[in-house]
Amino acid sequence: MSEELNPFAIAQRQLDEAAATMGLSSSTHELLRWPMRELHVNLPVRMDDGTVRTFHGYRVQYNTARGPAKGGIRFHPNETIDTVRALAAWMTWKTAVLDLPLGGGKGGVVCDPKPLSQYELERLSRAYIRQIHSFLGPDIDVPAPDVYTNPQVMSWMLDEYETITGRHSAGVITGKPLPLGGSQGRAGATGLGIVVTIREALKMLGMNLQGTTASVQGFGNVGRSTVINFIKVLGGHVTHISCWDNDDRKAYTYSKKDGIDADFLLTITDPYGTIDKDAALQAGYTLDDGDAWLEAEVDVLIPAALENVITAQTADRIHSSVRILAEAANGPTTPDADATLNERGVYVIPDFLCNAGGVTVSYFEQVQNAYGYYWDEATVHERLDDKMSAAFRAVHEAVQGYGVNNRMGAYIVAVNRVVEACSLRGWI
Ligand code: NAD
Repeated sequence: MSEELNPFAIAQRQLDEAAATMGLSSSTHELLRWPMRELHVNLPVRMDDGTVRTFHGYRVQYNTARGPAKGGIRFHPNETIDTVRALAAWMTWKTAVLDLPLGGGKGGVVCDPKPLSQYELERLSRAYIRQIHSFLGPDIDVPAPDVYTNPQVMSWMLDEYETITGRHSAGVITGKPLPLGGSQGRAGATGLGIVVTIREALKMLGMNLQGTTASVQGFGNVGRSTVINFIKVLGGHVTHISCWDNDDRKAYTYSKKDGIDADFLLTITDPYGTIDKDAALQAGYTLDDGDAWLEAEVDVLIPAALENVITAQTADRIHSSVRILAEAANGPTTPDADATLNERGVYVIPDFLCNAGGVTVSYFEQVQNAYGYYWDEATVHERLDDKMSAAFRAVHEAVQGYGVNNRMGAYIVAVNRVVEACSLRGWI
């Protein structure tokens, strides 16, 4: 991976810019540039055919000054220590910008889970926890689902942890199914939070909420809940969705001029977020190249798949109609593309603010686990909206106060809070 597209180099570059704007001391800057702790693990897993395959995995605890490390676990063939470091750094800024009493962490296993059987996936999930369990706990480090992991994977991981420790410990992992201590509203929380930030941005720009149009990349956990909330809560139309096709090993964009029918598309989408091409064509959807979502004539562009999709090259292809870029995915925009978007006046909602709804409800889940008392969905949604709106306002105030763009505004709010905690602990 080139240094230009290395997500951790990008995360460090973003921090460097914030540190310069804030006038951080070099020792504070250095502390925040690197993870506090990282684990590299080997996972021998018995496959269904009797052979043993060794997988490689990571867990990074980036900064824990404000509370236990918090962050998801990815199962992805392209995972590297640097993607996990970057995501752990962004989790640190994400929990801080939302003012949650948590630090930042992330985990990853280098694997393609799709060809694995359910039994192989279960053994891999359990093997990962066996290797890192002594570094986990509700008051140490709390994982959650991310790309290609889900509530079932969290259930196996919780069970392995509780089997090893010999006690119930629901708060060690979030994104669990309801019968194991999950929270109402967790499944769609990231998407609802994204739509709350889009709503606030539309208000800020004096634009109509009803009838706003969007084009989305990704129809997995985040993409689908964003699309559903964009249509049902905001009253907007989603005209384009791009997703990966496993059979063809390439991405496609599915579109409908008057807006896609999310409920229908969900019936023809597999658990990994791949839409059935033939069924979509039969239902009258237009099929285009995977990048076509980027060129759509819409108000809001929502990358909700992987990092580095909006680069110096692709930013120029974004339609002039686009007023808002809502970064649902982590790290979708490179710094060079950021500069182009700023010049064009696109209102960027930075990733660690935009997609913080998931970790916010994960935090609510931990609170409910600690109390053993559970809230209804309306309460979860109301508290999520309050938290996301407050974070949006805090970032806006920093943008005004420092005269910076939204990403730097979010960094300034988050880094200030982490620095304060580090300082109180005597780390700086
Ligand atoms: P997922 O695996 O459930 O879905 C990924 C989607 O992206 C799938 O629809 C897949 O087909 C699509 N995709 C993959 N490669 C593509 C390509 N080249 N072109 C078009 N589409 C492509 O993952 P997810 O959990 O929805 O996560 C998506 C992003 O959101 C990641 O950056 C993740 O870190 C971030 N995120 C996830 C959560 C969460 O709660 N799951 C929370 C915050 C942020």
